Amino acid sequence: MHKCLEDEHGRIASYMRISVTDRCNLRCVYCAGEGFDFIPHPNILRYEEILDLIELGVKLGMEKVRFTGGEPFVRKGFADFLAKASSRFPELEMCVTTNGTLLGDHVKKLAAAGVQRMNISLDTFDPAKFEEITGHDLFHTVRASIDRCLDAGMTVKVNAVAMKGVNDDELPSFVEFAATHALDMRFIEFMPVGLDNGWRDDVVWKAEDILTQARELADLTPSVEGSISRKGPARMFDIVGGKGRLGLISPYTNHFCATCNRLRLTSDGNLRTCLFSDKVYRLRSVLRHAKLGLPVVERIIRVASKTKPLGYKLLERKPEGQGVCQTRMASIGG
Ligand code: SAM
Repeated sequence: MHKCLEDEHGRIASYMRISVTDRCNLRCVYCAGEGFDFIPHPNILRYEEILDLIELGVKLGMEKVRFTGGEPFVRKGFADFLAKASSRFPELEMCVTTNGTLLGDHVKKLAAAGVQRMNISLDTFDPAKFEEITGHDLFHTVRASIDRCLDAGMTVKVNAVAMKGVNDDELPSFVEFAATHALDMRFIEFMPVGLDNGWRDDVVWKAEDILTQARELADLTPSVEGSISRKGPARMFDIVGGKGRLGLISPYTNHFCATCNRLRLTSDGNLRTCLFSDKVYRLRSVLRHAKLGLPVVERIIRVASKTKPLGYKLLERKPEGQGVCQTRMASIGG
């Protein structure tokens, strides 16, 4: 493994999360919020610029790239860009995080282009509740997208933000879904990221509680090392006699900072080394500067990675009633 981007805590960055847009067609209550300005178009990195940065990332040891947003498929030409990126960097593990509303006919083409990993967000199996959470009546569209991805042979992870009073009453449906579909159904603890997203400690449906409750509904055994997604921050469980798995991601109650291998690139070209920090390194203007360009961007990435913080320490110092960072998740790229 490359050690180009080893930080002061011995962690090596090998995973780049790239947001291609801060725009989203949904307004999930816990994420996007209202009353904010979108990034002006000229400030959004062009696809060619993103490809250059991926190439640099590969040189610095990146092994995995995830495209996210906002909603990545909202951006014009994203599916074609993805197919292009996949063929240009065949050695990279390439994944997408999407709300699944616009995947539509892209699935077959993407699978054929080698895009094999799709993370789809779905917080509820109740269409009316889906509309309450997201502001849009698109539950059935998302469900159909999940089936399409499975039919196309993709590795599918379905992610639900776990919130008490919102979806904790639906655990039987989540377990049943995972038992009957060959996918990973993962719960992500609600994080205090951004402003006015309704976060409160007592709304977090904690991973340990989910596990205890899920064990009452199904026979769960820890997934063996080496099976899909065992490398990530999710703790995965096989459902005995079932097709899929259940997963728990606990950034709030049981952080995984010690093994964090991520860097984040926002759609306006800011590098963020930690989801819980507002610190950004502005790459866009350097990248576009005739005399600076990629060599200087490389130097900035090296310095930034070196001093990547331990996010849980920022979480511990979080002021009461505020997010741990002040930027909404949709702008950072969750
Ligand atoms: N639009 C895409 C989607 O819906 O997956 C990608 C962007 S979205 C910001 C990425 C992920 O972040 C989604 O799974 C979403 O549920 C999650 N997310 C957003 N806000 C969150 C929060 N406050 N706590 C935990 N997860 C959150």
